[in-house]
Amino acid sequence: MNHPQTFPAPSSNSFPCNECSAGMMHLRHITYFTWLGDELIMVPNFPAWVCDMCGKREFDERAISWLTMLLNPNAGKPTRRPKRTPRPGPAKRNLPRPPLD
Ligand SMILES: [Zn+2]
Repeated sequence: MNHPQTFPAPSSNSFPCNECSAGMMHLRHITYFTWLGDELIMVPNFPAWVCDMCGKREFDERAISWLTMLLNPNAGKPTRRPKRTPRPGPAKRNLPRPPLD
């Protein structure tokens, strides 16, 4: 197993849920949604811990930071420039002339 594009795998298999303390958190691969600026990013097969009792979701910290690193390279970010059309101003009359010596 040495795929270049696999998510970092969380270490343990399951742990008790700290929300309902009755269920167990199991590793599932879900589709993770996040906003990147004004763009909705969809990440399929994202590792998340899901409680089998209350359904609480917890994302793996390493996977999150890994994803954040992937999504936030400053390069490739679309730069939006305000359209600024340089237009010649109205013809200026009555310009104060510098005094001539
Ligand atoms: Zn729970």
